Amino acid sequence: MADDTVIVAGAGPVGVMAALALAKQGLKVTVVEADPVPNMSPRAVVYLHPLLPDLDRLGILEDMKERGHLDREGFNLHVVALGEVLSAPFEVIDGDTPTPYNLHLGQGEFTTLVAEHLARLGVEIRWGTRVSGLEQDADGVTVTVETADGTERLRAGWLVGADGGRSTVRELIGASLDGFTWDERFVATNLRADLRSRGFRSSNLYIHPTHACVIADIDGEGLWRCTFQESDSLPEEGIVERIEEFYRGLWGPDFEFELVDYRPYRMHQRLASKLRDGRVVLIGDAAHLTNPTGGLGLTTGLYDVLALEEVLPAVARGEVDEGYLDLWAAERSRVFSEVSSPIASGLKRVVYGNIDVDELREATQYQRTLTATREGQREMLLSLDSVRSPSILAMER
Ligand SMILES: Cc1cc2nc3c(=O)[nH]c(=O)nc-3n(C[C@H](O)[C@H](O)[C@H](O)COP(=O)(O)OP(=O)(O)OC[C@H]3O[C@@H](n4cnc5c(N)ncnc54)[C@H](O)[C@@H]3O)c2cc1C
Repeated sequence: MADDTVIVAGAGPVGVMAALALAKQGLKVTVVEADPVPNMSPRAVVYLHPLLPDLDRLGILEDMKERGHLDREGFNLHVVALGEVLSAPFEVIDGDTPTPYNLHLGQGEFTTLVAEHLARLGVEIRWGTRVSGLEQDADGVTVTVETADGTERLRAGWLVGADGGRSTVRELIGASLDGFTWDERFVATNLRADLRSRGFRSSNLYIHPTHACVIADIDGEGLWRCTFQESDSLPEEGIVERIEEFYRGLWGPDFEFELVDYRPYRMHQRLASKLRDGRVVLIGDAAHLTNPTGGLGLTTGLYDVLALEEVLPAVARGEVDEGYLDLWAAERSRVFSEVSSPIASGLKRVVYGNIDVDELREATQYQRTLTATREGQREMLLSLDSVRSPSILAMER
C-alpha cells in the first residue's frame, strides 16, 4: 500500500478542507461521507480574516467571496445594560493584511463549494458511505464502510477522522471525549428581516439581560443568523413559538420577519483523549467540541487542517519520522484546551450569563479599552489568529 494514500472520513467543512489541502500537497485522497448530500443545517457562518490568505492559497477564496458576504464592519459588542456598542472596524487594519475583512458563508455552502474544487482536482467524495470498522498494520489502514450496495473494505496509508462530534473513527481508535456538557442548548436560527434598521452590523455579540444573542449577516441581502440559548431541559416541541417569542421580545410585537430555518444544538466543552493513533488522526469536531460563542468551533478545526497539511505529507513521503504526528496531536490539543475552549467559555458567560452590571463593566473592560483608540482596535483585530499553530516541523523534539 502506497503511503501517500489517505481516506478522509466525513465531508463536513473540516473534512473537505483537509481533502483539498492534502490533495494539493500531492497525496491521493478519497473522502467517504455517510450522508448522501452536504449537510445544509444552520451552523458556522464566520471565517476570520487571518484564515483567508490560507483559503486563497488553496484556491477557494475568490469563489467564497462571490457566494458569501464580505464583512468590513468588524467586531461589535453591544453592551445593552451600559448603553454601549464597542466596535473595531476592519479599515484600521487596511495595509496590515491582504484580507482586511471576515467572510460570512454558511458552512453547508462552504462544503458544497470545496466539494466542487475537489471534483475538479479529481478527488472522489463517496457520498452515502459510512465508516463502520478499522484495522491498522505497519503499512496502512483497512477501513470498513457501509453503502447502499453493502459492505466494502478500503485500503489506504492513512485515515483522517473528520466525522464530527459523534465520530465513529474516534470510537474505533478507543479515544474518549473528555469534558462537560452545558445545561443550556443553543438555538441557531436563520431569518429574513431588516436588522440594520435595528442597529445591527455584519457581526454582533449582543449582551442583553433576557435576550442575549449572536447575530451575523449571512448574505448582505437580508438573510441573518440569530443564535440564542435556552435550557436544555425544555422540550423541542414548541421551539418555533419560542423563537418567535424571542424575536418579538427583542424587536417588539410588530417586528416583521420570516423564519427561514432553525436548529437546536447541545453544547459541550470536550477534547478527545488522543488525536493520533498509529496511522489515524482526528480533526475538527471529531477531535474537540466547543460552544460556538466567538465562532471558534469550525475555526479551530480548519486550523487543525493547516497544521496537518504541513506534517502528514512530510511523514507520508518519509521526509520526517512519525513522531511529528504526535507533536501535531499534542499541539492541537494544547490549542483547544488553552485557547479555543477557555475563550469560548468565557465569552459564553459574558454574553449569555446575565451577570450584574458592575461585573459586566469589568468583564468588558478589555474590549472597552481597546476599542477606544485606533491602535487598540488594530491590536484587537490583529490578535484573532490565536488558534493557529506555529510550524510543527520547526518545533524541537
Ligand atoms: C449553533 C451552532 C453555531 C455554530 N457557529 C459557528 C461559527 O459561527 N463559527 C465556528 O467556527 N463554528 C461554529 N459552530 C461549530 C461548527 O458548526 C462545527 O465546529 C463544524 O460543523 C465542525 O465541522 P466538522 O467538519 O469537523 O464536523 P461536521 O460538520 O459535524 O461534519 C462531519 C461529517 O462527518 C459525517 N460522518 C459522521 N459519521 C460518519 C461516518 N461514520 N462515516 C462517514 N462520515 C461520517 C457527517 O455526516 C458529517 O457530514 C457552530 C456550531 C453550532 C452548533
